[in-house]
Order: sequence, then structure tokens, then C-alpha cells
Amino acid sequence: MASQVETALRGPEAFQLARRALAEMETAGVWPTPLNFELWLHYVGDPEGPLGREITRLLGNKDAFTEGTAEMLAAEYLPRGRLSEEIRDAGAVLNRELSSVSDAIAKARESQAAYGETLAEAGANIEQAAAPADLKQLVSGLTDATSRVQRENATLERRLETSTKEVARLREHLEQVRRDAMTDALTNLANRKAFDEELLRACDQAEADNSVVTLAVLDIDHFKRFNDTWGHQTGDQVLRYVASVIGRISKNPRVAARYGGEEFAIIFPGEGALQVEAALNAIREEIGSRALRRRSTNDELGAVTISAGLAQRRPGESGTLLLDRADEALYASKRGGRNMVTNGERLPAAA
Ligand code: C2E
Repeated sequence: MASQVETALRGPEAFQLARRALAEMETAGVWPTPLNFELWLHYVGDPEGPLGREITRLLGNKDAFTEGTAEMLAAEYLPRGRLSEEIRDAGAVLNRELSSVSDAIAKARESQAAYGETLAEAGANIEQAAAPADLKQLVSGLTDATSRVQRENATLERRLETSTKEVARLREHLEQVRRDAMTDALTNLANRKAFDEELLRACDQAEADNSVVTLAVLDIDHFKRFNDTWGHQTGDQVLRYVASVIGRISKNPRVAARYGGEEFAIIFPGEGALQVEAALNAIREEIGSRALRRRSTNDELGAVTISAGLAQRRPGESGTLLLDRADEALYASKRGGRNMVTNGERLPAAA
């Protein structure tokens, strides 16, 4: 997808594409921030691609297109390009370091070989050296050769030290890039991509050691109404608030993620449905217990509530099916009047 748009942006239709992106943003009431522009270039350039389809869906739902939404889309659909750029840069640095180290090693090898020759020559000459002056010359030649080898070794050591430091710095940087690519920028929870990977891992683990794992999905009640009334910035703050409560209660090995616009998910490895139901009710009560204020005007926003659903993995069940059942339980909570937790294990089995 990205490459198709990247090519179009350097082709004869580039400016037309850019103008269309701006026009569409204006029609949709989306601010022309650099990130939104980048997203819209992909949207108009490849409307049938995954990002194009997701934006079409969001616009169709008349969901608010907040900064948070843009960050999420970028994290989900744009990072590969950025990540691969970082990886290319890292590769270039590694290449440079490796070739400089191998140069230094080659030089050290040469000088070791030359030193060996000098020693062998000295060994042959020593037998013929009768006069003290000859011996003196021999020893002084050996001393020179030894210092040369020592200097080369010291250079090699310094080179290796610098390279080790550079490679450690690179590793740290790549680790940070990897963390960023897995984190939702607005809430600092794991993003959907990281979550999907974790869910797969947790299900494999549970299958391998015959342990339990329970999955919960949570959704903020009437979030759209909230956004429409108070504006997107306040909507983003509410997301941050809910995420902060979820994050506090989801310490390792639990994994919490922002799964969609106002939807969150938590994996509970080693915990059964009853235990998770209690944890979710604690989260639900804590979130609803606080009256929020709008930071800019100090208006009372009231409390926000969440609905949640959970499902405990059955032997052999895939992450996707588990997620479907947790989603069903969430919808049961919505249908049941919201601000509640539904334990999917108590729902009648689907026909
Ligand atoms: P934030 O604004 O970055 O605040 C981070 C943390 O700083 C808060 O974590 C809280 O521990 C502390 N803090 C910030 N402002 C205040 C304040 O006016 N009074 C008190 N007592 N503590 C404050 P917390 O509570 O987990 O909130 C996380 C995020 O949720 C906040 O990030 C903010 O984005 C949002 N949030 C929480 N409560 C409100 C609220 O009443 N109104 C709005 N607009 N946002 C809120």
C-alpha cells in the first residue's frame, strides 16, 4: 500500500493527489495537521487499502477524528515505513562499524605476520651474529617490531571499544523504536498491533502448558456523545483517564491495550473468568467513581462509565475466537444497560 502511494506522490498526478487529500480533509472537517495529511494521502491514493478502508469506516460511523485516532491509525498502518527507515539507518551504522573493525583486524593480522617474519629472521641471524654490535642491532630491530605490534594492538582495542559502545547505543535506540511502534501514543498502553501479538503468544502459552487465560474487552459508554458535547480534546483526556485506571490495575503479567477508538482490551494470563470478573468490576467502579472536570473551563463533566465483557479461553481455542466471545459478552453489557461487566462463560452458547 505505502509503496503505491509513495510512487504516485512522485509521479505526474502527485499534486492532484495532494489537492484531493486536502479537499477531502476539509469536507470531513479534519484539521490539516502533517499526520492527518499523511493519512489522507494514503486514503485518497489507495482507498481500497487497509488504511483507506479503515478511514472510510470511521468516516461512515461519523466517529470523531481526534488526534488520538490519527495516532492510532499511524501506529497501526504507517509505522512499517518509519520502522524500516530506522532499521535501514541502523543497518548502515552496523555496516560501518563492522567494516572499520574488520579493517583494524586485517591490519593487526598483517602486523602480526610481519612480526613473525621479523622474529624468524632474527632467529636465523642470531646464529651468525658474532660481534656485540650485530647483536645490538638485532635486539634493537626486535624492540622496534615489538613496539609496532603493540601500537597496532592498542589501535585495534580502541576501535573495538568504540564499536562496542556504538553498537550498544544502536541497540538501545532500536529497542526504543520497537517500544514506540508497540505503544499507543495517546494512552501509553500497548497498541492493537502489540496486543494482537500478545494475545497469540498468551494463547499458545496456555495451550502449551495447559493453563488458563482470560480476555476482557472494555468500552467507554456513550463516548461519541461525550466527544460531541465537550470536544475532541476533552474526549482524548477521557481516554487517558480510563487508560490510566486500566493501566494501574493491569500490571505484569496482565497486558492492557487500547484496541480501537474507545475500546480497550486486557489479557489475564493464569486467571480464570471469576477472578477477572472481579478485577473488571473493580476497574468499572473506580472509573465511575470520579467526577471529571474539563481542564479548559473547569466545567463538571460528570463521571464516565465503561461496559466490559470477558471470556475464558477454552482448550484449542484461537485468539480470534476468544476475542469474538469476549466481544459478544461486551455487547451483552451494552444491551443490558451499560456500566456493567458480563462474564461470557455465563452466556448461553451461540447457536
Ligand atoms: P494528566 O493530565 O497528564 O495527569 C497525570 C496525573 O497527574 C493524573 O493521573 C493525576 O495523578 C495527576 N493530576 C493531574 N492534574 C491533576 C489535578 O488537577 N488534580 C489532581 N488531584 N491530580 C492531578 P490520573 O488521575 O490517573 O489521570 C490520567 C489522565 O487522565 C490525566 O493525565 C488526564 O489526561 C486525564 N484526566 C484525569 N482526570 C481528569 C479530569 O478531571 N479532567 C480531565 N480533563 N482529564 C482528566
